[in-house]
Amino acid sequence: MIVEPKIRGFICTTSHPDGCAKHVADQIAVVESRGAIEGGPKKVLVIGSSTGYGLSSRIAAAFGCGADTIGVFFEKPGDERRTGTAGWYNTAAFEKEAAAAGLYARSFNGDAFSDEMKATVIEAIKADMGKVDCVVYSLASPRRTNPRDGETYKSVLKPIGESYTNKNLNTGTKVVDEITIEPANQEEIDHTVAVMGGEDWEMWMDALQEAGVLADGVKTVAYSYIGPEVTWPIYTNGTIGAAKEDVEKSQRALDEKLAPLNGKAWVSVNKALVTQASSAIPVVPLYISLLYKVMKAKGTHEDTIEQMDRLFRERLYGKSDPQPDDKGRIRVDDWEMAPDVQAEVDKAWKEVNTENLRELGDVEGYDSSFLRLFGFGLDGVDYSKDSDPATGVPSLA
Ligand code: NAD
Repeated sequence: MIVEPKIRGFICTTSHPDGCAKHVADQIAVVESRGAIEGGPKKVLVIGSSTGYGLSSRIAAAFGCGADTIGVFFEKPGDERRTGTAGWYNTAAFEKEAAAAGLYARSFNGDAFSDEMKATVIEAIKADMGKVDCVVYSLASPRRTNPRDGETYKSVLKPIGESYTNKNLNTGTKVVDEITIEPANQEEIDHTVAVMGGEDWEMWMDALQEAGVLADGVKTVAYSYIGPEVTWPIYTNGTIGAAKEDVEKSQRALDEKLAPLNGKAWVSVNKALVTQASSAIPVVPLYISLLYKVMKAKGTHEDTIEQMDRLFRERLYGKSDPQPDDKGRIRVDDWEMAPDVQAEVDKAWKEVNTENLRELGDVEGYDSSFLRLFGFGLDGVDYSKDSDPATGVPSLA
């Protein structure tokens, strides 16, 4: 099948099997070009491993640290008529590359929030790995069914307390206009915390610990975002920020629970990047376009793979200097938050409009990053050639 991008709002409904494979291969090449990560983990579980930060974490663990990996995600396979989701093809490619490198890789497709998935993964760890020494928690989901009460919670991206008006980029039409978002009510806040907060991370770690499959000295990390003041009302001080605060609460609870194992839980605050999750957040795509322009000019721009490589190589393992902030969080958003970067982005933010958008913002960079998430626009892929939408994930065959 010849596969072309079909963009609907902030998602692309098709993905390119060979392009996704190239995207994975390019990420592996970044990690390998930097050499082996000393002292890295050897048996790693990544929850949310198919796209974005989770996929890059799995690649850094496998190809930087030489780790065996188990990945969990929620993706759709393709068939002869329709393409699957990008995360499916990413995983197919990852497993093939891991096998070629002599690394164990097994994947599970289904609902990570469920008790069943946790039990299935624990059985696989027992059977194939014994114990895991690192657990990455990188889920981004609009909804979660809590197995304890059977209720399905939905997350919203809204401010708390008062409505928020700011500039916004329509990524389809490239018009910069204004958006006003009404504040969330208490139920919406609670639901967002139930979906994107730390409860499920703790449930995973509790289940793994109870089953005795966490190695001595285990590390676990979940991801967060802070960003600049212009986005605080919609992010850090909004519903998603409330959920991230809950993740930090879970990190402290996990630290205590893991103490008998000499374990450690971390929250890593990562950079704003184009992923399937972030493109859905109002205001953020405009900020990212301006940020990319500034950081590329300064030579400090990173994508998810450079971020996760730095996290594994310099903060969690390798140099092992986590450089925690005053709240005990790892900050690989440090280059994004550098005062000179933020001053330039802030100036551009005040000036940007539809007319000067391409001058002040990296619109092409945003678009090409977005398309790359779905396997489009990668160098070395012949898009006029047939690609097989029924490409399978070896361990799920
Ligand atoms: P993403 O959409 O690229 O990845 C989400 C992953 O979760 C995918 O592997 C998906 O399959 C999986 N998933 C979703 N629902 C699932 C379910 N029910 N069961 C199993 N798997 C499921 O998102 P991302 O941007 O990489 O986000 C990952 C984490 O990083 C989130 O906590 C996010 O808040 C954080 N983060 C993102 C950014 C950013 O700019 N993108 C910045 C800092 C932190």
